[in-house]
Amino acid sequence: MKLTFYGVRGSYPISRPNNVRYGGNSTCLHFRLTSGAEFIFDGGSGIVKLGREMMDREFSQGNGKATVLVGHTHWDHILGYPFFLPFYVPGNDFRFISAGQTGVSIHEILSGQHHDLHFPVPFKDLAANIEYDEFSIGDSLAVDGMKLTTFQLNHPGLTVAYRLEGDSTSVVVITDTARIHAVRLGDNMGGLEPDSAFSRRYTDQLTALCANADVLVHDAHFFDHEIQDKEHWGHATGEDALILARNAGVKHLVLFHHAPEHNDTEVDQILQATRDLGRRDSLKITAATEGVTIDLGEAGP
Ligand SMILES: [Zn+2]
Ligand SMILES: [Zn+2]
Repeated sequence: MKLTFYGVRGSYPISRPNNVRYGGNSTCLHFRLTSGAEFIFDGGSGIVKLGREMMDREFSQGNGKATVLVGHTHWDHILGYPFFLPFYVPGNDFRFISAGQTGVSIHEILSGQHHDLHFPVPFKDLAANIEYDEFSIGDSLAVDGMKLTTFQLNHPGLTVAYRLEGDSTSVVVITDTARIHAVRLGDNMGGLEPDSAFSRRYTDQLTALCANADVLVHDAHFFDHEIQDKEHWGHATGEDALILARNAGVKHLVLFHHAPEHNDTEVDQILQATRDLGRRDSLKITAATEGVTIDLGEAGP
């Protein structure tokens, strides 16, 4: 399995000289199995570049096929879809896998982006064949040789973590999540007040989802000193990511969802602080960087 980062930024895309090293595009990941099967995770602004690269291949002739995994549908995770060129080529096949958003389907959310108040090209002009599969949170699915396990994250609305298993390797993607012991933000999580029994159960389930994963991509939006009065924003620190990775026996932790306010030096500092905390752990720790591919091979790193 190969994982390539096309967008690593949270909240909104940026372009500034001191952000070019990690990259300014918002969430988009691409997975490829050795069989050639392709999976796109989220359609933040990073998907635009991915789409252009796909148009250098079979997608420009309408012979492309890919599965799109929807984590959640906040702006930073969907704003690139209308600019994804392979959607406009007849013959391409896309299959959206999603839990929807509390009674609203992914089809409705995507087509809403093309309302003429927001975008000049109507949704019906998307000429590719696009199918929509909705699952219930907690379901496991098998798609194109990839096993997918799903879990609801602690983030406003309905936000999904996926464990992807293929080629005898495993990656868990947790793009946006808050400390469960501080606040409960997700739909049907029972409200804002901490609940220690719920927190323990949630943490056990999340740790099981990540157990022995080759790679864990995890929200590390905040410095420790920033999160104190922003727990309800729905994001985490490098330390939160490390604690989960350590308890789950993860081999490689990738810090993700870099805050748009943070420059490259500040992302370096979050990475270094996390490495310092994890110096007695055997896991590798890096920060997600646009354009970088992690090649897990056919049986792990
Ligand atoms: Zn986000
Ligand atoms: Zn979000």
